[in-house]
Amino acid sequence: MAVVQEKELLCKDFLSRPKQLLIDGKWVDAVSGKTFETVNPATEEVLCRVAEGGKEDVDKAVKAARRAFEVGPWRKMSTAERARLMLKLADLIEKHADELAQIETLDNGKPITESRYVDVPQTVETFRYYAGWATKLEGETINANSNFFTYTLREPVGVVGQIIPWNFPMLMLAWKWGPALAAGNTIVLKPAEQTPLSALRIGELALEAGFPEGVINIVTGFGANSAGEAISHHMDIDKVAFTGEDKTGKLIVQASTTNLKRVSLELGGKAPNIVFADADIDAAVKGAITGIFFNQGQVCCAGSRLFLEKNIHDEFMAKLTERVAKLRQGDGLDDKTRIGPQVSKEQQERVLSYINIAKGEGASLACGGEAPAELKKGYFVKPTIFTGVNNDMRIAQEEVFGPVLAVIPFSNMEDVAEQANKTTFGLSGAVWTRDVKKAHKFASHIKAGTVWVNCYNVFDPAVPFGGYKMSGYGRELGKHSIELYTNIKSVWVNMQD
Ligand code: NAP
Ligand code: MG
Repeated sequence: MAVVQEKELLCKDFLSRPKQLLIDGKWVDAVSGKTFETVNPATEEVLCRVAEGGKEDVDKAVKAARRAFEVGPWRKMSTAERARLMLKLADLIEKHADELAQIETLDNGKPITESRYVDVPQTVETFRYYAGWATKLEGETINANSNFFTYTLREPVGVVGQIIPWNFPMLMLAWKWGPALAAGNTIVLKPAEQTPLSALRIGELALEAGFPEGVINIVTGFGANSAGEAISHHMDIDKVAFTGEDKTGKLIVQASTTNLKRVSLELGGKAPNIVFADADIDAAVKGAITGIFFNQGQVCCAGSRLFLEKNIHDEFMAKLTERVAKLRQGDGLDDKTRIGPQVSKEQQERVLSYINIAKGEGASLACGGEAPAELKKGYFVKPTIFTGVNNDMRIAQEEVFGPVLAVIPFSNMEDVAEQANKTTFGLSGAVWTRDVKKAHKFASHIKAGTVWVNCYNVFDPAVPFGGYKMSGYGRELGKHSIELYTNIKSVWVNMQD
């Protein structure tokens, strides 16, 4: 296997350095002195140990963030200076792109071609996009009553807690830091326990870029009964942004009642990917593969329900399974790998258990359905496709968060229109057709925050992303994320003599 040799490992130095918490501009151990392991899911080897922050560390980080927000140089800094810091961070990430891509692949398992050509460049672009926003925030004057001069100020929310998942560790950080920093907030970030490393390396680069102390704080550690919960309950955090599972999202909302902090949520999905008989079938086959197997299916907007019009079903399946059989699975560091391991043993087991559930429900296994026997180490699951799925089955309703596709045949427009929205989630959906009218009708019909027409998984920092229904609320990316991180203040000035 042409896996990167140790001498080519650009992140060797980083891996050997201590992994501490970033609080108030300094790297410090957890108050408890505890650490935890982070593992390479392709080899099951421990990459390094990382400080395990808890409640006391979150308290320290919040104090630092509060001070930085209220009295630090951050508050007085011009927006142009803020933008320059963000651009500097983007440049530093770009400069260290290969090292960061390796860190992401080692910690998460994703193919290096994805880390290198998707995660890192999109992280850079997100920081550049939001750096542009820093200088463009405005209030307005309102002609309400000539006796008063009335205007609005757009102000930062304050100290923001950000809790992110393991599927796109670096990119989720950028989606959250970008708008928060552009708007002048200060940050306490908790990365996922499975993938803390890229955040720590970007934390080093943020210090190098010159962010004032306390503006960016990183507390690695666990969620439940620990750092994550301390953030969600904290009385001095003004807003929490969360990406993760819907069950955790509900806990975050409940915890927010302590001080009624603002909450935004990006949760799961069970996206319908609909192919009509009049579509470009070869393009739709490729789109179905991107839709479900990108990032090993660990994507909240994955096209996990593939609806095929009955008269193209067999032709489509023949082409799909032929292509899927060629997807090369292995260690993400090998640049020929297209499918890496799941992020952890727990996720591998969860995916395999859903495969058993689907079999038990009577779905037919078209390919995959097990861990690859030839890969002795690592948390791999073969790309798996079930046909003959009914939309009411658990495999069509529950989020697997793995490389498992449920194929559901449909007979006509009305039939698929009803089934597509029959889900508790509403993050995304896609439709493949050459009929422009049908495409627009479905774009408006699908109850989801993003609809792709004749494409899948296309993103840009300028285009909003977020959920309907139980996929969460609030929109990240674009100008909408600025709303999440700012408050509007109305000022009335009496002009009467
Ligand atoms: P998760 O368990 O919800 O974890 C997400 C983050 O929340 C992690 O940092 C986690 O810490 C933390 N956390 C867990 N329990 C917490 C609690 N009680 N209080 C505060 N924080 C807590 O989700 P996951 O298992 O990492 O990721 C898989 C799920 O995320 C999937 O279901 C997927 O749908 C969803 N997801 C959604 C999106 C989106 O954009 N909508 C993107 C990615 C993932 P630990 O790391 O210690 O568990
Ligand atoms: Mg978890």
